[in-house]
Amino acid sequence: MQNAPLADIEMAHCWCGANSDKEGGIIAKDGATMKEFVYKICSVCATERVDPRPPAGAIGGYYATDYASHRVRENDLATRFKNLVSNVFFALPNERPAFSRFLKPFLFPFKGHTVFAFYAVSPRHIFEFGASSGNDLARFREAGWQVDGCEPSAKACASAGERGINLQNVPAEAANLLPKSFSCILLNNVLEHVHDPVAVISKAYAGLVTGGSVVIILPNHAGPSARLFGAAWPGYDAPRHLWGFNPENLASLLMRAGFTAPKVYPLFQGRWAWRDCLDGGRLPYRARSWRRRLAGVGSFALTPLGFLAAVAGSGDFLTVVATKP
Ligand SMILES: [Zn+2]
Repeated sequence: MQNAPLADIEMAHCWCGANSDKEGGIIAKDGATMKEFVYKICSVCATERVDPRPPAGAIGGYYATDYASHRVRENDLATRFKNLVSNVFFALPNERPAFSRFLKPFLFPFKGHTVFAFYAVSPRHIFEFGASSGNDLARFREAGWQVDGCEPSAKACASAGERGINLQNVPAEAANLLPKSFSCILLNNVLEHVHDPVAVISKAYAGLVTGGSVVIILPNHAGPSARLFGAAWPGYDAPRHLWGFNPENLASLLMRAGFTAPKVYPLFQGRWAWRDCLDGGRLPYRARSWRRRLAGVGSFALTPLGFLAAVAGSGDFLTVVATKP
């Protein structure tokens, strides 16, 4: 197999096994290669998917060498705020910060905006699929966790290695997890990138101890921005985002693997995402600088509206947490 020539494209049926689609589907252009891709919509489960798509051996060529998610982030103000949120809601009662009870109503809209949005059991050992340069794992390590993960980008792996986080340099499907060893498995903006989500979720299930949680953060293709802005919304990042999930079909994927019905937290998106929505997405900047400026201003108005929509239960992104019974 290894020496077989790589085709540029492959056909993919839905993860649910169905191979029939609804009419229509978003057409999204890759800003780098200017190639067009169609997001087909499964007629059974409504998961969206890029079809045809670049196969696993070719997808790396569609990621920029300075792909934003691979950059090393330091502990900034936002990270410290997220730590406060997770401690108020998810720490053991005797480990919660002072005044937690009074902070809860104010912090409630941010409850899902943390990679720690789950109740931990022992051992405190995490595996992260698509761990990038180790930004999330560094936070877990600071909180006293043993950390492991995998990442397909050799460059991101090297960045993680420089901070003492050794990752398996493989795609999620090829990761090697010791069974029943982890109490948390994290996929932070990763599940929509993997070729075989069923295999990855099964791996997560097998790796978890009883009572352990899988935490999935991803774009919500049933959210307001997906509907209003279509291909301009960053959730349609073709062809890197191979799948478009919504809370229902993601729950089916998890429950089919054996997980309990997941807890879903709606997230609101950052201003950068609104700016992409308003200025038409990821075309080259210089061609439309006036529009970029207008979008910059407009995004200030839309960010709080997205926040209110998420508080009302309709997020542009989701944190989904499911437990192994
Ligand atoms: Zn389907």
